[in-house]
Amino acid sequence: MMLPDPVAAPHEATVLLAEKFESIQGEGPWTGQRCVFVRFSRCNLTCGWCDEKSTWDWNRYHPAEVSSHVPVRELVAWVLERDVDLLVITGGEPMIQQPAMIALAAGVGSEVRVQVETNGTQAPQPELRELVDLWVVSPKLSNSGVDYGRRIVPSALKALRSTGRAAFKFVVADHGDFTEIDKLAADFGLDPATIWVMPEGESPAKVTAGVELLRGPAAARGWQVSTRLHILNDVR
Ligand code: SF4
Repeated sequence: MMLPDPVAAPHEATVLLAEKFESIQGEGPWTGQRCVFVRFSRCNLTCGWCDEKSTWDWNRYHPAEVSSHVPVRELVAWVLERDVDLLVITGGEPMIQQPAMIALAAGVGSEVRVQVETNGTQAPQPELRELVDLWVVSPKLSNSGVDYGRRIVPSALKALRSTGRAAFKFVVADHGDFTEIDKLAADFGLDPATIWVMPEGESPAKVTAGVELLRGPAAARGWQVSTRLHILNDVR
């Protein structure tokens, strides 16, 4: 098939890439599944607690040291060599490079499931919509420090919800966050079965305690709870 136009290179589809690695999915509906992660560089938000600031925070990192343009065909070959059936496209915010996402998702073929991790501020283009098996949408709350108008884009959230293949995953820092999630769920008609809450935390102790705190309020609302396996087990 014809690959879509590249993001930056004129003759070949490329990804502005931060990193790629093989691991297991540590969060959300497909926790524990073997997969490959392809992390796109750059983000359109600036969350205070972001654990991937090397994709966008140029006060701390130099873009040339933490990202590079990689041909999509190289990434496709790398994914297919790994012999796993799950590709996780993450970031940063990968949806700001949709032509590259389309080329990558189409290139790996239907034998490899495609999961996209997104902050939910960008609506998917029709071609991409058809290629993604699971959208893990993480709308940011006020605990991110980002203004509401930047982090909540109604048209994008509605478009992602309408795929019928979206899970909405929220990072919870304290109990007050439940009130915000309740309001977003009501405003955007989110099915409780598609809502996941996950504790903020960069240590096993904090994640374990956080899961315990989330269980009761989540169960009362019919929501799901996600752990963070990569932090509990100190693996990537
Ligand atoms: S949307 Fe995600 S990658 Fe972007 S700043 Fe927020 S936490 Fe970091």
